[in-house]
Amino acid sequence: MLSRADLEAREAQTLAPYATLSQWSRGREYPEAESATRTAFQKDRDRVLHTTAFRRLEAKTQVFLNASGDHYRTRLTHTLEVQQVARSVALNLGLNETLAETVALAHDLGHPPFGHAGERVLNGLMAGHGGFDHNSQARRIVSVLEQPKAEYPGLNLTLDTLDGLNKHDRAGLGPPSLEAQLVDAADALAYTAHDLDDGLRSGLLSHAQLLELPLWAELSSRTGVAGAVLSEGQRRTLHRELLGWLIGDLTAASDAAIVGSGIGSAAAVQTLPARLITYSPHLRALLRDTGVFLKENLYRHWRVEMQVEQGSRVLTTLFHALMQHPSMLPPQFRERTEAEELARVVCDYLAGMTDRYALDMHASIAPPAQHAPHF
Ligand code: MG
Repeated sequence: MLSRADLEAREAQTLAPYATLSQWSRGREYPEAESATRTAFQKDRDRVLHTTAFRRLEAKTQVFLNASGDHYRTRLTHTLEVQQVARSVALNLGLNETLAETVALAHDLGHPPFGHAGERVLNGLMAGHGGFDHNSQARRIVSVLEQPKAEYPGLNLTLDTLDGLNKHDRAGLGPPSLEAQLVDAADALAYTAHDLDDGLRSGLLSHAQLLELPLWAELSSRTGVAGAVLSEGQRRTLHRELLGWLIGDLTAASDAAIVGSGIGSAAAVQTLPARLITYSPHLRALLRDTGVFLKENLYRHWRVEMQVEQGSRVLTTLFHALMQHPSMLPPQFRERTEAEELARVVCDYLAGMTDRYALDMHASIAPPAQHAPHF
């Protein structure tokens, strides 16, 4: 049987010199004994996986409202796709697969219901109360809100995992670990590929329209899939080939950047002026155009906008109702209003909701003519 010390030794022997090793973890805010059988990052991963916030990702919107179809990505399946990409690339680059996996599993824990629309609305409602964004909320969930143990608030994750969740407030910190950089790239890679796929599946995007996009035109010629209308099998082929192309390019370009940088340790990554996990210049340009295309043609499609409006109205109504009648807050949230501003507690409650829970609560306090649109 392998002990934690054996697993740590195996990491040191098999991973690249610039990988983040669990034996050199920067420790936890509340010191605790490490496991006899799991590395520090394994423990982090297991703690993230067993949170209620993780289970709720299942019924939260990615792009398409959770209730609108059984085959679209949800926040949970998106998270699992990010995890898959991050683990694959981590293995090929000799990075710490477990740390990458942990950050991937936790990266969207702070997403409110109704996707980015929900985030925008909550940020607006919280203007004057510190605002709202899903990255800070993810850190708040793992550091404060989830409380599996009485000894400390939050999950007491390693500082390495927490730093991996610190995507934007990095003033003076330098780039994050290569594992954290990889999860950021895997996030964008996964949503680009699956939003194109869900866009086609839903009929909101057409193959003919996509062929005007340079990335798609190149993908189409790489795979030999032509013609204005796609079969189900061709759509799957394109999605699979796109994933393989992006992952292959990201791995090769990142490897070249790491080798070119000459770094020989994980600590050296933080002293560099820029990130090392990157695409080739050619794919970077194609992906930039693709982001603009998706924004204009999918995220702002009128049928998506209908769902955005519905989610916005639901959250706005619930926010004001709870601010006026805090007695509707469940006991564990009401207790917290003694120590924290009511608006923040209401925001935490709303942000934690699944789409379904928010729609149900809205239906139970608002006039009954509401229903989810069927797309
Ligand atoms: Mg994400």
